[in-house]
Amino acid sequence: IALKLDRRTLASAQLFADAQRVIPGGVNSTARATWSGWEPYPIFVASGHGAHVVDVDGNDYVDYLLGLGPMILGHRPAKVTRAVVRQIEEVGTVFALPAAAEAELARKIVAAVPSVEMVRLSNTGTEAVLYATRLARAFTGRRRIVRFEGMYHGFSDAVYWSKHPDLASAGPDEQPVPVAQGPGLPKGVEDNLLILPWNDVEALREAIRVHGHEIAAVLTEPMMCNTGCILPRPGYLEAMRELTAAAGILLIFDEVITGFRLGLAGAQGVFGITPDLSVFAKGLGGGFPVAAVGGRRDVMALVSDGTVSLAGTYTANGIAVAAANATLDELAVPGAYDRLYETSDRLRHGLAEIFARSGLPAHVVGLGPVFQVWFADGPIHSYRDAERRADQAMFRRWWLGMIERGVLFHPGAYENLFVSFAHTKADIDVTLAIAAEVVARLR
Ligand code: PMP
Repeated sequence: IALKLDRRTLASAQLFADAQRVIPGGVNSTARATWSGWEPYPIFVASGHGAHVVDVDGNDYVDYLLGLGPMILGHRPAKVTRAVVRQIEEVGTVFALPAAAEAELARKIVAAVPSVEMVRLSNTGTEAVLYATRLARAFTGRRRIVRFEGMYHGFSDAVYWSKHPDLASAGPDEQPVPVAQGPGLPKGVEDNLLILPWNDVEALREAIRVHGHEIAAVLTEPMMCNTGCILPRPGYLEAMRELTAAAGILLIFDEVITGFRLGLAGAQGVFGITPDLSVFAKGLGGGFPVAAVGGRRDVMALVSDGTVSLAGTYTANGIAVAAANATLDELAVPGAYDRLYETSDRLRHGLAEIFARSGLPAHVVGLGPVFQVWFADGPIHSYRDAERRADQAMFRRWWLGMIERGVLFHPGAYENLFVSFAHTKADIDVTLAIAAEVVARLR
């Protein structure tokens, strides 16, 4: 199948060869690299429109990659584009002075997410996580952050551990040891982390019993999107909330993927859990670099008098704020998420049916507009389950079959498929027809 794809993507192959001479690996982020699944080379983009992407060879794809999440309104969403162009042509981009539009945006975020009483902006999810963990340490006077195997919270030194560790070096199941996500991380910073298996109440309870007095925060995705969309077990997030509150530990929800996607109030709205701090990014900006940390007033107040310093030349720049204001206006239209769930449920349920009929050991896991297909015999509740059970070779065959027929999503089994507001029923039906054809050949 790889050969068939190669013949249709000759221009991408050429551009990739050229790019590698001046860009290490030929790409500007790990997730686009060959070693992240884009073997033998990534597709080079020509343009995007709505739920579609056209590559440099002129192939048109129904897009479920969506830039890894930000293009929740589809590509080139008209109102966001107009707001940004207006900002550039009539106002300007960076002033190092506040603007009224920033408080307008903050009010929208506060109105959308009940746990957020105050909010500060940043440019990326990586930065916003750094803000959140700094705030938690300052607020509690404690140094350690609990983070879970299989999650990603950005690439900063402090948290880029045990994302997807090799199990041979990752320690026992109940008590993982921190594994650096490659060389270059300063040794010692991992002492400020505590790595736990996700979806395991007892492991969390025990860690808090032993180390609670030095834990500033538990940092978690409310749904483990960075290991293929693993849902929290019933009661897990509730237990996490109770255990942290009882020990004076802040609960930080990293809603970089789920925020403004599962609903206006994110995963916390869907699951009914109130974290102390939340981090938002991708869904917030409609394709422009903007992120946010928000939460309890007493924690956020540490920023008010400079006790905690959060900075950035480009934070709340005019383009980001205009884009986010326009995006949130679109997302707040009554009934918007109902339509998004209608389209995405049609796809998820349709795929589930196709796999059920095929008899293949595959299941579709996720919620609404973010999900993944697992090729695995049993259920998957944690990163180690995934490592041990998931059939990565089968996933790759599925991915190749789909992309060569014009359906685009990430080649990594631990990534997600995203559905946008721009996907139509017709897009979904075309996708399902292609999926049926591909699955028939997987047998
Ligand atoms: N947290 C989560 C849960 C993420 O999925 C990501 C990015 N995929 C990040 C943080 C980092 O965000 P960014 O790429 O904007 O730095």
